[in-house]
Order: sequence, then C-alpha cells, then structure tokens
Amino acid sequence: MRFSIETLGCKVNQFETQALELLLTSRGHTECAPGEDCDACIINTCAVTAESGRKSRQAIRRARKSAPSAVIAVCGCYSQISPEEVENLGADLVAGSGGRAAFVTQLEAVYADRVFRRDIDDPMKRRGFESLPTGGLSGRTRAMLNIQDGCSNFCTYCVIPYARGPVRSLPLKDAAAEAVRLRDAGYREIVLTGIEISSYGRDLENTSLIDAVRAVSEAATECRIRLGSLEPRTVTEEFADALVPLENVCRHFHLSLQSGCDATLRRMGRRYGTARFMQSVSILRDRFPGCGITTDLIVGFPGETDGEFGETLDFIRKCSFSAMHVFPFSPRPGTPAASMQDQIDKQTKHDRARIAGAAALEMKRSFLDSCRGSVQKVLFETESGGRSRGHAGNYAEVEVPGTGFHNTVLSVMITGVRSGTLTGEVVAETD
Ligand code: SF4
Repeated sequence: MRFSIETLGCKVNQFETQALELLLTSRGHTECAPGEDCDACIINTCAVTAESGRKSRQAIRRARKSAPSAVIAVCGCYSQISPEEVENLGADLVAGSGGRAAFVTQLEAVYADRVFRRDIDDPMKRRGFESLPTGGLSGRTRAMLNIQDGCSNFCTYCVIPYARGPVRSLPLKDAAAEAVRLRDAGYREIVLTGIEISSYGRDLENTSLIDAVRAVSEAATECRIRLGSLEPRTVTEEFADALVPLENVCRHFHLSLQSGCDATLRRMGRRYGTARFMQSVSILRDRFPGCGITTDLIVGFPGETDGEFGETLDFIRKCSFSAMHVFPFSPRPGTPAASMQDQIDKQTKHDRARIAGAAALEMKRSFLDSCRGSVQKVLFETESGGRSRGHAGNYAEVEVPGTGFHNTVLSVMITGVRSGTLTGEVVAETD
C-alpha cells in the first residue's frame, strides 16, 4: 500500500505521525508525499483551537477530492472529538487520538475490504502509555521522544483533556531504552515531548519529570536533551538544582505563560499567578545564566480589558523572553471559555496580537544581542549556499560559513546577528 500522511498540530502529533510512518513501513508499505498518487491518505488532525479544527476539515476535504479512490483515514484529536463531522466529510476510517498500532491494522483492513470503520474509544477510560517506535527517519538530527500523554488540568480554553484523557507516562526504563535507540540511530538531539510533560509520573509510583530527564540524559550522554513545554510550577529550586549536573540538557526552557495578568490567568483556569511564574524565571536565570526562556501567550481571552492586556505587556517585558509565540484567542466549542461573556472582537484580538508580536520581536533582538561574544554549542541541521545552519543549546538559530557540518555539534564564536539569526565562526569541534 502506498500511503501519505498530513499532520496538523503539536509536537505530539508530529511524533505520532513519525511512529505511524515507522509502523507502516515496517509492515512493507511505502510512504509518498501528500498529493502524490497513493492508496491511502492519512490525516492526523488537531483540535486545539477552532481554527485547527477548520484546517483539519479542510485537509480531509482536499484529500477526498484529490484522491477519490484512495482510502481516507483520519486520526488525532479533531476526529476524536468530532467523529460525525469527519465521517460526513467522506472518511473511510475514523479513529481517535489513541491506539496507533490498532489504527495501522484497521487501515490495512479498510484497504483490503473497502468497508467503512469507525474506532473511537472513551479517552477518559484510557490507562497505561502506548509505547510507540521513535526516530528512524534518515537525514534528521533531532528526534522527539514522547514520554507522556493526556492532561488532567482542564484549563478553561482547552479541549485537549477531553480528547486525550488522563495523564499516562512512559515508564523510566522504557524512556532510557528509547533514548539509547535514538542515540544508536545517529540522532544528536532528543526532545522530550508530551501533552503536558510537567505531569509526567503522576500515574507512576514516586516518579516525576526530573526522574525522566535524568534517565534519558544519563542513558544517552552523547545526545543533547531538550525539554518540551513546562508548567511554571514544575520549576522549583530542587528541580533546577537536579538539572545543573546534567550537562547535556539544553539550557533552553519553554515556560507556558498564556497571560501576564493574574485575573486573566484565573479565568483561564491556570494554576499559577505571575509571581510564581517570575519565581521560575528567576530560578532558571540564576542556575543557568544566558539560558533561553521561551513562552506562549494568548491575547484577547474573554473579558481581557485594555488594562489587563497592559499588565500582560508589562509582565512579558520583565520576563525578557528569548522567543514568544502569540495566539489570538480562538473559542473551542465545548470548553467553558467558549461560552464566557465578554468575548473580545476580532479586530481587538488582532491589534493585541500585533502589539504583543512586536514586543516579542524586541525581546528576541535583545536576547540575540546578548549572545554576541559568547561561544555556543551548535547542532548543525541544514546547509545551502556555502553556509550551515543549526540551533544553539539556548535554541537560538545560528549560521556559519562552510559546509560539511551536518549532524555534528560544534563550538561557534558568535560575532553578529542577521535577520533573527546569530552569525559566527566555528572555533572547535565538541563531538
Ligand atoms: S495544561 Fe491546560 S492548556 Fe495544556 S493541555 Fe492541559 S488543559 Fe490544555
């Protein structure tokens, strides 16, 4: 069977798509690019915002139209939550956000007998972590290792807990074994991903995220380890002190902020305030001078006044993020925030996103400027036009003259900044 996969959404979806690719190719099927002539089009959907749902529907429609005789197989968070809509769009297989191995066998069955199948479980009843194959795609330098699934936080704007069910974690020994496999497959960086990795271990005995980070870091000392998004309350003095000796853990931390105003955070159902967030930022800056701290921000949340937005702007500037993704609030049907009063009009959301985006650029510029004169360890990922590009441990993009560095970590003296990228010269090989 020739199959294509289109993926929407987060790193977990990307990870699961890679796992599907590996599962399918290991069973003798061949992957082709979306849009190419194929027997099965898989769409791994996302439901995090109403916009993601719209894009998911659009991808299904496009696949159905461009490949009328192919099997259209849909999985992921959107089809988990809205299976009827997916069925009505002409999908031949409607599956959800779990059971990837079962999805592969269902797909083979639909391909063989052309009989429609729908396989949607109740995510709230899921127990245990589905271990999936990691990595294995040639030419890549960075692999994702999914260590956690589900979320039990129920933030008021988010649909994910309903789509993914409760917290489940990959056991420590399996996480370490996967890290070794990725190292042996030649990857130089492992990104620890999950829906909410801060909750890692809640379903295991006496285990928390730091145990998983230590297990992976020590199992694959030759690889860099990058942490996925952290809930600010995870960063305690104890957590940071335990990270310090793990030298292969990147000095880059993504702390999910969402709003810099306490009243807005409360309406969002986030379980921290700005003071606790700032404490995490200070702990990280103290233990890891020069680290990159990135974040996400939602603007135009219901009830966000000009004054509240102003508080957020002041707060993000105090945090001096190295990068910030800004999202205008998009109501997700079925979540408490979608039916809150005082929804913000589109133009105001747009204006606030533009203002926050400009603040993000300013902060990024000053972070990059602060890197001038430093030596950064860079993992080189791409090359073209006689120049090589990659990411430093702090997640800044770096470009140097010369080629032939692909998939190696080299020390680079940073001498300048051009178009949001650090520039410099290779000074030593650190491999
Ligand atoms: S922590 Fe909140 S925003 Fe993140 S997945 Fe869970 S409910 Fe959604």
